[in-house]
Amino acid sequence: MSKKLTGNEIRQTFIDFFVEHGHTAVPSMSLVPGGDATLLFTNSGMVQFKDVFIGTDTRPYKRAVDSQKCLRVAGKHNDLDEVGRDDTHHTFFEMLGNWSFGDYYKKEAIAWSWQLLTDVWGLPKDKLYATCFEDDKGDIPRDDEAADIWKLQPGFDPSHVLFFGRKENLWQMAEFGPCGPCSEIHIDLGEERDNLRGTDHVCGVNGECTRYLELWNNVFIQYNLFEDGRLEPLPAKHVDTGMGFERIVSVLQGVDSNYKTDLFTGSLDVLRSLTGHTEKEMDVNFTPYRVICDHARSAAFLIADGVVPGNGGRNYVTRMIIRRAARFGTKIGLKEPFLAKVAEAVINYYGDFYPELQKNKATILDNLTREEVRFARTVEAGTAHLENLLSELRASNSTTLDGHKAFDLYATYGLPFEISRDIAREQGLDVDEAGFNAAKNEHSKASGGGKAMGKTGGEDAEFFANILKDLQTKNKIGKDGVAYDPYTSTKVDGEVLALIVGGESVSSASLDDDVEVILPKTGFYIESGGQVNDEGYIRGKDWEIEVNAVRRAAAGVITHIGQVISGQPKVGDQATAEVDLTRRHNIMRNHTATHLLHKALHEVLGDHARQAGSLVAPTHLRFDFTQPDAMTSEQVERVEKMVNEAIAADMPVVKVTKSLDEAKKEGAMALFGEKYGETVRTVSILESDSLLSDKPQQQAAALQSKYSYELCGGTHLDRTSDIGAFLIVSEGSAAAGIRRIEAVTGRGAYELIQKRFKTLKQTAGALKSALEEVPVKVEMLQDEVADLKKELANLRTQSALSTFNLQLANVQTVKDVNVLAVEIPNADADTLRSLADKFREKYPQAGAVVLVTGSTVIATVTEDLVKRGLKAGDLITGIGGKGGGRPNMAQGSLPASRGNANEALGKAAKVVEEKLK
Ligand code: ATP
Ligand code: MG
Repeated sequence: MSKKLTGNEIRQTFIDFFVEHGHTAVPSMSLVPGGDATLLFTNSGMVQFKDVFIGTDTRPYKRAVDSQKCLRVAGKHNDLDEVGRDDTHHTFFEMLGNWSFGDYYKKEAIAWSWQLLTDVWGLPKDKLYATCFEDDKGDIPRDDEAADIWKLQPGFDPSHVLFFGRKENLWQMAEFGPCGPCSEIHIDLGEERDNLRGTDHVCGVNGECTRYLELWNNVFIQYNLFEDGRLEPLPAKHVDTGMGFERIVSVLQGVDSNYKTDLFTGSLDVLRSLTGHTEKEMDVNFTPYRVICDHARSAAFLIADGVVPGNGGRNYVTRMIIRRAARFGTKIGLKEPFLAKVAEAVINYYGDFYPELQKNKATILDNLTREEVRFARTVEAGTAHLENLLSELRASNSTTLDGHKAFDLYATYGLPFEISRDIAREQGLDVDEAGFNAAKNEHSKASGGGKAMGKTGGEDAEFFANILKDLQTKNKIGKDGVAYDPYTSTKVDGEVLALIVGGESVSSASLDDDVEVILPKTGFYIESGGQVNDEGYIRGKDWEIEVNAVRRAAAGVITHIGQVISGQPKVGDQATAEVDLTRRHNIMRNHTATHLLHKALHEVLGDHARQAGSLVAPTHLRFDFTQPDAMTSEQVERVEKMVNEAIAADMPVVKVTKSLDEAKKEGAMALFGEKYGETVRTVSILESDSLLSDKPQQQAAALQSKYSYELCGGTHLDRTSDIGAFLIVSEGSAAAGIRRIEAVTGRGAYELIQKRFKTLKQTAGALKSALEEVPVKVEMLQDEVADLKKELANLRTQSALSTFNLQLANVQTVKDVNVLAVEIPNADADTLRSLADKFREKYPQAGAVVLVTGSTVIATVTEDLVKRGLKAGDLITGIGGKGGGRPNMAQGSLPASRGNANEALGKAAKVVEEKLK
């Protein structure tokens, strides 16, 4: 094989080869096998065709070819121990397969694999070996059929057929049922690939060293094995093959590790750019690199198939893989989250063949980083604890850590079993896996609380109403349910009344669980009136939950939604729920500023500028209002100024609850289309400060002089000066007749000023000017650029003209016609046109010219030629371009590329000759 194929090309040649031989190309199935509860992950190509082999289903084709995503990290097939230690096993890998469902059999299968490996891919025939089945129990006949076919293959060394027993060469779907002999193809990679060289070991196919590599397994399903040991031939015989994609790529690319193929180049490059290691330094400590690349790839594919990190089943595997990769990252000095960067390289490489990666890119990257961040929070405490346990273990002269203890490490510090075991093994110790699994099962039973009350989803509200009823019966909460008061206190104590994990009410939650918490009262604001939810923490004696949302789940039920970030919260624990005050304060600044903005818009634009929508977030505020035209920049400035004046005036903000009628009578601004209850909360900003006076008359007067008066349930500052500053970031259209202003206050305003100043300083620095002179300097530069452009255009025209004049010497005569077809570099269409005119001046009769610059082409022919049947457009299409125009003058384009232009122009004379026949 001359040219080295890329991995993607190798996959494609495999598929193409079998499609040429009548196979239907079938897409990979998901890593999550649908409808197969016995299997955690798809672990071979066979999984998606299992029902065909058992005979319970059929397919519309009898021959198929595919590349199947496989994962071998759990259950019967678990290669995790090999990954990182060797160069040929991965957790995730692709299995290339060709399939016959009762169609062709051994003869074709063997011949085609030989042909593909040796003819198409050019592997050396003398290095390939084939294994065939010979029963070590003596019950099933020896597969001489396959062996004889192998010996017929052109150039195959007959001594390279080897027989092996059940373990290696008998394939069984289960203990009983369909089964058959298989024939594996191995390659001898040469003495230098023997990792046990110089030691006494079995060096051969299925031996102990890495010299002989298994590439491809051809399974011939031909028997049905019964419980009583009876063996019956199947009515329809099948072929099921699986070739390790990464392995064949490494062989064809001539590298000594799957990780040195182009499949992993991108990932390794990213990693090396992060560690700063040279290739040599990387090779010295290659294991972490291998593990990270392998695991990042698996995690990306898993998340793309919907398996996000979590605590149970498949989700646990994704979590474990990410955390294990993160820990190996620390071994090569990576401290910040890095897996998203590696996964991007994976997505780039595989995204074309597996579009699910592209489609879910954001989810993949986001999940990886979040999981790394979660793990980073607890890993140090977890490993320190483990080290203690391991010291105790050594002190007591034992070597295996109790599985229950390992499970505690997982439940409390998020340290997956596999990582504890890695660490133990690094010290020559081990962890009891069965014990860990037992503890895990016990725990999930216990936290299920015995009684699943329902699933979140459609019956969500009903589920929470039931919880409330239950709590009320037990006198844990009053008839009104959870008390809501985000106004007076942002920190409240209470008993944990309920915990909801995975849609079920549980008695305790574990580290990393996504959880909903019900407390008797809350100071967390629930998103409404444009103001976003509060965030914060709920803390118990030895646990902590990060709250990132709150919601009214049912009437009387408010839940805090978040994640356990340390310890194990339990129902009945005493807890303190505390709103993130800094964030809340930023929100309040934006909310009070929104009222000032509303007022200023009325003043500047008129009373029609009413609120039509609003967002009050910690970072910024957004205000939509009815207004037909865009605001002028002068109006925007006036509004901004007015709000800042109101801030500087340090006006008091007064919140009073009263009846809706009274508030309306007093002129409070209600929002159009908003529903209000009988009693409402009013927020007034007062012009006068005499509210603080102790004279009742003055107080009353102050309450009359309202600067702004709105019905509002949001949380507000006590004084406007607390807003700090107000800056409008943008004014634009939100919908027909509705404008939108976005603004920042307080910290946000400071950050914006800071950022703008920095940009200005950088600009001034680049211009080598004082800050104030930047605009003048820029104007000067623009003038200068305009002059230079003009000058450049002149020079180009001149240069085009002189090229053209020189080219006039190359005018050819084709049948009495003067033909010129040339490329004029660096010109534009106008210049070409004026040059074409020049040509016509020189040849008013019998002249045809084609001029090309870049991809632009212009052709002109004289009138007499038009009459003789040659049109300008013919010249353009004749040389492979596209375009149109008048008969004597046409313009168009050529497929861009310099080489093209010359080749195309060469055809012009021929066009003239043909058209003038
Ligand atoms: P091995 O003995 O090398 O682990 P296997 O017998 O487990 O291989 P099969 O179940 O027959 O392999 O799978 C078919 C092919 O898939 C193998 O010939 C091999 O090329 C490839 N393969 C198997 N396991 C892995 C893995 N963990 N990573 C990459 N490729 C694999
Ligand atoms: Mg294996």
